[in-house]
Amino acid sequence: MEILRLKKFSLLSILLLLSITSWRVTATSDNLHGDFLQCLLSYSQPSHPISQAIFTPKNSSYSSVLQAYIRNLRFNTTSTPKPLLIITALHESHIQTAIICARKHGLQMKIRSGGHNYEGISYVSEVPFFVLDMFNLRFIDVDIKNETAWVRLEQPWENFTIAFLKKAKLMASQLGFVLQWALVVTLVFNLVRVPETVTVFRVRRTLEENATEIVDQWQHVVERLPQELFIRLGLDVVNSTQTGKKTVRATFISLFLGDSHKLLSIMNESLPKLGLVQSDCIETSWVQSVLFWTHFPVGTPEEILLDRTPQSLTFYKIKSDYVKKPIPKDGLDFIWKRMIELERPTMAFNPYGGRMAEIPSTAVPFPHRAGNIWKIQYSADWNEPGDDAANRYINATRKLYNYMTPFVSKNPREAFFNYIDLDLGINHNGKDSYVEGKAYGIKYFLGNFNRLVKIKTEVDPENFFRNEQSIPVIFY
Ligand SMILES: Cc1cc2nc3c(=O)[nH]c(=O)nc-3n(C[C@H](O)[C@H](O)[C@H](O)COP(=O)(O)OP(=O)(O)OC[C@H]3O[C@@H](n4cnc5c(N)ncnc54)[C@H](O)[C@@H]3O)c2cc1C
Repeated sequence: MEILRLKKFSLLSILLLLSITSWRVTATSDNLHGDFLQCLLSYSQPSHPISQAIFTPKNSSYSSVLQAYIRNLRFNTTSTPKPLLIITALHESHIQTAIICARKHGLQMKIRSGGHNYEGISYVSEVPFFVLDMFNLRFIDVDIKNETAWVRLEQPWENFTIAFLKKAKLMASQLGFVLQWALVVTLVFNLVRVPETVTVFRVRRTLEENATEIVDQWQHVVERLPQELFIRLGLDVVNSTQTGKKTVRATFISLFLGDSHKLLSIMNESLPKLGLVQSDCIETSWVQSVLFWTHFPVGTPEEILLDRTPQSLTFYKIKSDYVKKPIPKDGLDFIWKRMIELERPTMAFNPYGGRMAEIPSTAVPFPHRAGNIWKIQYSADWNEPGDDAANRYINATRKLYNYMTPFVSKNPREAFFNYIDLDLGINHNGKDSYVEGKAYGIKYFLGNFNRLVKIKTEVDPENFFRNEQSIPVIFY
């Protein structure tokens, strides 16, 4: 009963917003920009003028605002399509106004928060568009008593929305399905307790240092390690000790929620081939372990985490896969040869199991649960601008992905939605949108895809919230 009420409320609130304007024209005219701007200004609330949140190309800060959250240099070139304008929402009324006017003028809205989307789809489009920038969604309240953290714009929405979200927190699965594609203005996180002391290590072994045997052992034990222990495996190509030769290097990076003494005893039992010793281990606080993972030395002042400027920016291409069975040793040898041949693309193997495997595949849209041993992130990054370099590195990443076909999930070949990959298909949001959406949607959401389409069709039949890989609607 409670779940039904909750679902109805959220459907209604979105529908209400979508039906405030009931007409729609196609974005074709040259004066679209001016008309859209006028619309925004005319709907603006005097108490929260939207003018301070609008950046047009005439504004001297337009480029810096646009570039501030571009995290992939592939989408920061002179030929990258640029938005007609950017709205940096400071108040919820700015979001409502943006939606009303975008519908009225049939204009594509791109929503951006951190700008980390691997394919730039939060700030790039092939059709005329504007960006609704949500980077001001940055106020965090930590509620220790209830073990939650709230992230939102400065002023909370109406009280009833807060009450609704409090209930929704208890029903994350329902909320996940209902609001998958819409616009998020408040996030509620459940906090997880961590011990005062955690232990981290980063240990590297090349093929000459027995990497194949260690990787083989890692893949057979990693799913069954205690929940407190996470060991990511990174693979890249480096110079060998033999002059002029290349080798594969396996890097084991780990976080253990406990002290080094206990960690060493687990490691000696489960992964003795790595040969972890006390001097490899760093005992620290959890927040300092975040610095370690971000390649800052442990001991760096924690305030550096508040700095939103990335340490460096590169051009990059990413793809993903899931692995359900350990790779035989001759398969590993094949992979090493191919990696050395391609040289640049790297792989990160992120183990699953543990808590990930306990949650049913149907509980939230994310379906990759029990049965997955690890997820692969393929990645190539480079610094040379231009199409030649881009084509070379993107093709190398695709080749490595193709070489991995025998070792990864099949029918469908699963993919991780957070590592968005336009190679899996692009939606033109026309009459074929269901078929186009299914190509990538089944890989990202498996059996949950059709449930998402059903809800999307009910809530947003005009497909207002759309992008190159959004959930499609079914046209009747
Ligand atoms: C350096 C780097 C490290 C990463 N590490 C990890 C990792 O460890 N684990 C992992 O799972 N992923 C990781 N990712 C991927 C990242 O989690 C996803 O790309 C995520 O979607 C980024 O969110 P964002 O708000 O920064 O991106 P954006 O590009 O701003 O948005 C991503 C998508 O969400 C939409 N969107 C943004 N804001 C809203 C909103 N308020 N309401 C509705 N829709 C919205 C956008 O339109 C876009 O489609 C990493 C990415 C980068 C670049």
